[in-house]
Amino acid sequence: MKYVIVGYSVAAVNAITAIRESDKTGEITVISNEDQLYSRPLISYYLAGKLKKDKIGFTSKDFEKDMKITVLYGAEAVKIETKSRHVELNNKKKLPYDRLLVCTGGSPIKIPVDGLKDGLKGVFTFTKLADAKELEKYIEKNKLKEAVILGGGLIGMKAAEALLGKKMKFKILDIADRLLANTFDKEASALLEEKLKANGCEFLKETTIKKVIAKAGKIEDLVLSSGKKLKAKLLIMAVGVRPEISLVKGTPITAGRGIIVDSRMETGVPGVFSAGDCAEGLEFLSGKGAVIAIWPTAAKQGKVAGHNMAGVKDVFTGSFAMNSVEILGVPSISFGITNPKEDGYEVLKKSADGKYKKIVIKDNKLVGVILVNCIERAGIYGLLIKEKLDVFGLKKELLTDDFGFLLLPTDFRKHFVTGEGTEV
Ligand SMILES: Cc1cc2nc3c(=O)[nH]c(=O)nc-3n(C[C@H](O)[C@H](O)[C@H](O)COP(=O)(O)OP(=O)(O)OC[C@H]3O[C@@H](n4cnc5c(N)ncnc54)[C@H](O)[C@@H]3O)c2cc1C
Repeated sequence: MKYVIVGYSVAAVNAITAIRESDKTGEITVISNEDQLYSRPLISYYLAGKLKKDKIGFTSKDFEKDMKITVLYGAEAVKIETKSRHVELNNKKKLPYDRLLVCTGGSPIKIPVDGLKDGLKGVFTFTKLADAKELEKYIEKNKLKEAVILGGGLIGMKAAEALLGKKMKFKILDIADRLLANTFDKEASALLEEKLKANGCEFLKETTIKKVIAKAGKIEDLVLSSGKKLKAKLLIMAVGVRPEISLVKGTPITAGRGIIVDSRMETGVPGVFSAGDCAEGLEFLSGKGAVIAIWPTAAKQGKVAGHNMAGVKDVFTGSFAMNSVEILGVPSISFGITNPKEDGYEVLKKSADGKYKKIVIKDNKLVGVILVNCIERAGIYGLLIKEKLDVFGLKKELLTDDFGFLLLPTDFRKHFVTGEGTEV
């Protein structure tokens, strides 16, 4: 059996481990257009100087040897031929496969801005280790102390975390009226904004860039949508990530926003699987396919794909959105549907002593949560969403500071904790 895996990150690592559970000898070749395996969420710690590049891995040192895999680093897959079953590389080499996994992740979105040209110095994206390394060099070479981040979503906040670690000041611009707009509401955002302000940073809401002004090939100023001019010798574009699906274009493998897969993570083309940020797996709350671009989802989908590639039946039962960030010592977590747009949802909120809790309920089931500065019991909320348990009798308890297993009625606890001799 020949397995080919395009993209080498968390989905790939989980797929490889799952394949090797049952197939100890099949040939596994991995194609990576990067030069090392690392955890993407840790690039902000690398840039902040908290972790060296050899400390941002997430496998054992001997993973590749133990798993008996060949990793082609610095190689790009450019074409998939589904009829003759091979993948073509940028060096024209053709790799035949019996089972193929496409786990190419996401690529940063670039928005068109007047004056913003490719190659303009001082403009960066922030999704790869290479971005963090380039940023580090540029900041040091130009002795920069300030920056502008376009986008206050997850990647923008991760870039902010890194710059704070470097003791830099920055302004975050976002077209939305709050930070982490996809998951946060105004109250949650206000707690982060306060902290940023106290540290000399600023959030400019409902603001974008109209024009970039450069001098000698380097970014110098920004003209904002408000008409104001802003000095910017460093601009981090963090407006989002889109699934990297260019490889399947022009092939019979179908894609919407991401690559379409069934519950076994197989595409419509037999033998071709997809997982992670490039795939549209099952979204648990809507029951529909969606791209949920987070680490645990990529890990689970990779595992399911790997099992099925090796002929062991496994099913992806779905996932839901989850965001976890810590800015200036303010930890926050959100799950599921946090800003319902239609009727039929019940929203409970509690705000006190710099802590904020928001609970979203539909049909007596918990479907969304925001926790700011009170994340200790986050896991149990996640579990309630996943288990779709009826929380009708628990509404008051859900907002309390000490909400936990012990506040759940016995029946609930029995549902979570099983096993002989377990007293619940
Ligand atoms: C800065 C940052 C912080 C994050 N923080 C968090 C967090 O705190 N929590 C969380 O849950 N999630 C976080 N995420 C999201 C998380 O990292 C992703 O969901 C996860 O990495 C997705 O894994 P993946 O295996 O699908 O793909 P990726 O990690 O995106 O890896 C895909 C790989 O495929 C390679 N590739 C693409 N095309 C080709 C090709 N044609 N040929 C060869 N190689 C190719 C890419 O270069 C890349 O190496 C963060 C993401 C970023 C960018």
